[in-house]
Amino acid sequence: MSAPRKLFVTTALPYANGKFHIGHMMEYIQADIWVRNQRMNGAEVNFVCADDAHGAAITIAADKAGVTPQAFVAEIAAGRKPYLDGYYISFDNWHSTDAPENHQLAQDIYRDLRANGLISTKSVEQFYDPEKGMFLADRFIKGECPNCHSKDQYGDNCEVCGAVYAPTELINPYSALSGAKPELRSSDHFFFKLSDPRCEAYLKEWTAAPGHVQSEVQNKIREWLYKDDEGKGGLGDWDISRDAPYFGIEIPDAPGKYFYVWLDAPVGYLASLKNLLDKRCIELGGDGISYTEYMADPDLEQVHFIGKDIITFHTLFWPAMLHFSGRKRPTRCTCTATSR
Ligand SMILES: [Zn+2]
Repeated sequence: MSAPRKLFVTTALPYANGKFHIGHMMEYIQADIWVRNQRMNGAEVNFVCADDAHGAAITIAADKAGVTPQAFVAEIAAGRKPYLDGYYISFDNWHSTDAPENHQLAQDIYRDLRANGLISTKSVEQFYDPEKGMFLADRFIKGECPNCHSKDQYGDNCEVCGAVYAPTELINPYSALSGAKPELRSSDHFFFKLSDPRCEAYLKEWTAAPGHVQSEVQNKIREWLYKDDEGKGGLGDWDISRDAPYFGIEIPDAPGKYFYVWLDAPVGYLASLKNLLDKRCIELGGDGISYTEYMADPDLEQVHFIGKDIITFHTLFWPAMLHFSGRKRPTRCTCTATSR
């Protein structure tokens, strides 16, 4: 008889700016069925999830509710248990991307990417709210659509005519947070150099390898990964930093700069696993296996269940982050029909 399969399985982390909805549960149920099936076949599975706690949308939701982002996330997190228990979802651990394990792991991964020559900095011009004292994400800028002239449209696209544009193209832009007229200001941003030939070559290989992603997903990825006949498109560098005030993880050696939420969110899978294994080590004493030892096992399969709206993050950014920081890469990303 062959040795039992060793599986580290995750579902997409729910963003902690709102309560659970049926889309979350659908994905968990699909993943849970698969996990239970593997366990019945003798596999050793660690099935984990966490709250995705950082980012501008949470800061603003907390601000509206008159509480700190930490308190806001804690309240959302406390409301999850009845749903998970009610649907008999068999997660082994539930953690948070704001936990100390995640701060440490995200900063370690960043340092390793930087040591590998894959981090660059560049000045970026962005709208700034002088009343709130902060740079504004596209969704927090509104104004008149440059195409159809509808009022009160978002900074990235028009909900009336469907036009897509840059926030700087809006007519009479204003901050959705304060109503103030935003000013263009520049700031240094940090980038993960996905356009590096090493990343491009690696991702073409990883995404095309059998079993890593479904064939439909592979087709979609080709649109992002390959240049067209005119040599346009292909992978660009990924902006991974945001300026203070931002609820997130500080970038090492860069005061006032934080990781963009999508840099540290998938690291939350590893943080939740580490938290689980550390707790077991305490319970079991010398019989527990450490996180480092567990991840070093070449037979361990790392499987992510994700929604189709987060394919870019999981099939391009995440495998590249792991591989080029010298870590175990995912064995498979399975796309469910649901969204995050
Ligand atoms: Zn329009």
